[in-house]
Amino acid sequence: MIRKLLAALAALCMTSAATADVLVDNVNGYTIGADGRLIRFGAMLVGDDGKVERLYQRGEKVQRTKFRFDGKGRTLLPGLIDAHGHVMGLGLNAVQLDLSDTKSLAEAQSKIAAYAAANPTPRWVIGRGWNQEAWGLGRFPTAAELDSAVRDRPVWLERVDGHAGWANSAAMKEAGITGKTPSPAGGQIEKSGGQPTGIFVDAAAALVGKVVPPALPRTRDQALDRAQDIMLSNGLTAATDMGTTPDDWLVMRRAGDDGRLKVRIIAYGAGVESALAIAGTRPTPWLYGDRLRLVGVKLYADGALGSRGAWLKQPYRDSPGARGLSFVTETELLNIMSRAAMDRFQIAVHAIGDAANAQLLGAIEELANTYKGDRRWRIEHAQIVDPADLARFGRNGIIASMQPVHETSDWRMAEARMGIERLGGAYAWRSMIANGSPLAFGSDFPVESPNPFPGLAAAISRQDPSGEPPGGWLPEQRVTLEQALAAFTRGAAYAGFAEDRIGSLEKGRWADFILVDRDIFDVPTPRQLRETKVVETWIAGKKVWPS
Ligand SMILES: [Zn+2]
Repeated sequence: MIRKLLAALAALCMTSAATADVLVDNVNGYTIGADGRLIRFGAMLVGDDGKVERLYQRGEKVQRTKFRFDGKGRTLLPGLIDAHGHVMGLGLNAVQLDLSDTKSLAEAQSKIAAYAAANPTPRWVIGRGWNQEAWGLGRFPTAAELDSAVRDRPVWLERVDGHAGWANSAAMKEAGITGKTPSPAGGQIEKSGGQPTGIFVDAAAALVGKVVPPALPRTRDQALDRAQDIMLSNGLTAATDMGTTPDDWLVMRRAGDDGRLKVRIIAYGAGVESALAIAGTRPTPWLYGDRLRLVGVKLYADGALGSRGAWLKQPYRDSPGARGLSFVTETELLNIMSRAAMDRFQIAVHAIGDAANAQLLGAIEELANTYKGDRRWRIEHAQIVDPADLARFGRNGIIASMQPVHETSDWRMAEARMGIERLGGAYAWRSMIANGSPLAFGSDFPVESPNPFPGLAAAISRQDPSGEPPGGWLPEQRVTLEQALAAFTRGAAYAGFAEDRIGSLEKGRWADFILVDRDIFDVPTPRQLRETKVVETWIAGKKVWPS
């Protein structure tokens, strides 16, 4: 008992010795004010609690402190917050075998063999990113070619586009695949001479995928560490985890318990069951010094536009007769949302197509009569909205949680799917602001890169990295850099009930900030904004990256 007490005291002394007021001096600082306007400052005083004490204008006399950090005139921004990402997905992708840079089958084979040797613990070797076109192979690779790299353990590798998987013989054996296994609806088992070749296209991939064991706890811990490094190196000090499973939560809790949780995670349970399993009957408190909280529930109203799963009011132009997938009936949606709202979970619903957005807006309008108070209903993506429905976003304080890079990645595909005449309310950032809908920006990582600077560039230009289309796509929906930065900081914090803690640099907020290699408000082109590099990332007044 006494030993425990002494240890606790020692720990206390150490932390207080390590912290004291710090003056972050000589910076070109920016933050977004409560009115949405840009605030500039030249120095920032951070208290020994890791929170902002005050900002100083440039040239203003600063308080003397024991510790002074010289920013050397560099540009300082609030830590960026991704309002919609998938933290474990980012990390798991990063720790798996990545074949996307291989130029030949032989190079891929040696990379697979080396990875398997370096990672002996997981029984299955899992990876992705292969592309037989990039190898100049002119055909799919085979199980036998994979066996020559790894024979004694199952190997399962997803193609670069996610539409095919490549298995070795051990993996097919474990999945019970033989020459007699029929191809499922919507998929194809590639065969040669009646025998499976090792390639499983689309729905057939699930035949192998379903026997792949879930990642080991150790692998998941590594994945979270990697995800945090990737976030910090990109200037993200916090992220919303859209669809946290109970397993994910345990990984995050382990990191918090071990003192490995550096970034702040605002979690939304993957469906009501996950939220209830994680949090019981109400959102959790903030844990680990405001680094982890489960605040709400993530639900789905439809699919995605690329696979024609987005639910549309009128048929797809490039697939007449098809209107996409409605995931839930009106009644089901109302029931699940009520179930979550009863326990005061915040509700975030994925809606891409104009029919799904309209259905969800209707559900919120109905529920808002019953579930009153500060609810902050969130619509995730809000990609294709009927212009007639845009104004409904501003009512009931609905948050538009949008991803600027989706617009620059998708505009050609959106035109093919629907035709430009039906896209008047597509990726309509400026309309959301004009209608009074709080705007939160994110990237949907790992679907897109977690780097927020391409997002900022897309938001102000509506041009992709190659400058297409000239003048921007539906350019009237561009926002200003101030508005875009606000959506990536204050807006993203507000969207997660965290604006009293993060999202701006002002008295009482955590001193979460980044130093970057250029003055983003003084770059002439979107390209220069996109190429901004993060130099240092600080959380709670301490430098956490590079470590
Ligand atoms: Zn997502």
